[in-house]
Amino acid sequence: MMDTDKLISFKKMWTWLSGYPAHDSQYYMQHVAKLDQPWLNGCPLATSDSDDCDGCRPLWYSKKGTLCSDVESPLYKWKATSPDYPDDRSYYASHIAVLAMNALREMQSDKFDASGKTAKSDYIDSLLHGR
Ligand SMILES: [Zn+2]
Repeated sequence: MMDTDKLISFKKMWTWLSGYPAHDSQYYMQHVAKLDQPWLNGCPLATSDSDDCDGCRPLWYSKKGTLCSDVESPLYKWKATSPDYPDDRSYYASHIAVLAMNALREMQSDKFDASGKTAKSDYIDSLLHGR
């Protein structure tokens, strides 16, 4: 099971990077998130400091590998694209952010399905009607 907070950090970073294609995750960790301790391999989901981690597996997994190692993945393409091509960098970064958003949405719906009583609509209903 994936850690929601890590996934949110991941999504935030890639959303930011899609707007600032000249920068990378090192810059983000230092100047935007202002982390005391940098993430392993510059990624909140990383499970190792090499590029074949499987922390990002829930976001992307194909026969060719994970988000880190699959040459077809937007993360791989982003890394392979120089900041001299800002439009491409923005495009790949926003694709990564969308993958994170979809994974978050899936996790949230799993949570609500698993415990019917705490489903969001019931909760709002109980606030409105004092039940
Ligand atoms: Zn990874």
